[in-house]
Amino acid sequence: MGLPTYEIFAIKYAQRDARRPDHFVGGDPHDGPMPMDYFLWLVRNQDRLVLVDTGFNAEVAAKRKRTLVREPRDGLALLGVKAEDVREIIITHMHNDHVGTFFDFPNANFHIQDEEMSFVTGRHMRNQFFRRSFEVDHVVGMVRMVFKDRVVFHKGDDDIAPGVSVHHIGGHTPGMQAVRVHTRRGWVVLASDASHYYEHMEKRRCFTAVFHVGQVLDGYDKLLRLADSPKHIVPGHDPLVMKRYPPAAPELEGIAVRLDVAPVE
Ligand SMILES: [Zn+2]
Repeated sequence: MGLPTYEIFAIKYAQRDARRPDHFVGGDPHDGPMPMDYFLWLVRNQDRLVLVDTGFNAEVAAKRKRTLVREPRDGLALLGVKAEDVREIIITHMHNDHVGTFFDFPNANFHIQDEEMSFVTGRHMRNQFFRRSFEVDHVVGMVRMVFKDRVVFHKGDDDIAPGVSVHHIGGHTPGMQAVRVHTRRGWVVLASDASHYYEHMEKRRCFTAVFHVGQVLDGYDKLLRLADSPKHIVPGHDPLVMKRYPPAAPELEGIAVRLDVAPVE
């Protein structure tokens, strides 16, 4: 009996226009458009379902001037998943675009790194530079989940299920974690914001929202160690993901792609 394999889906729920200098520490001499996509990721097989991140809702999209293309729970519904049936959710980090609809999942536990909860409730939130990416209502709401015993804390690397594990990366935020999944094409790593775009890890450059630049750069090495190849690493916000991977179904073109099959190039 080998390890189980899983299907993985990237579901796009929002987008925004941006320019290249917005995305790189040190700016970029080649100014030009570099739009950003926003995703949540669904990991499942016949026995288990694990959601990775929960996106944000219409209220946060309006406040932050993002274009919501569908509520995250509606994206899941397109894949036949009801929010109330989701029991395990990995929160890669607490930024508003990753944690922002956790309250839509009444029966779920939330898997978070120790360091992330310490960060969002501690001294660094005094600084606008760090707190700007968080919503205080999300943070307070997640503290309430701790008091309901619905937060599962992880310190470093940990198994979530056979063939699904979290891996502490840090850097972007102190408790940033990536997710490794066993699939029929081998070990796939959902980098989330450990690499926003392919270009960040390929050129070893750093995204502008950052806690520790050195950990971001070391993180690329860890992603490469965890994945079967660079083509097994899925960045967190790159519109190329929707182009390189096949749609989950013909009618889901531009909405959801399959990550457990090899990318085209
Ligand atoms: Zn982030």
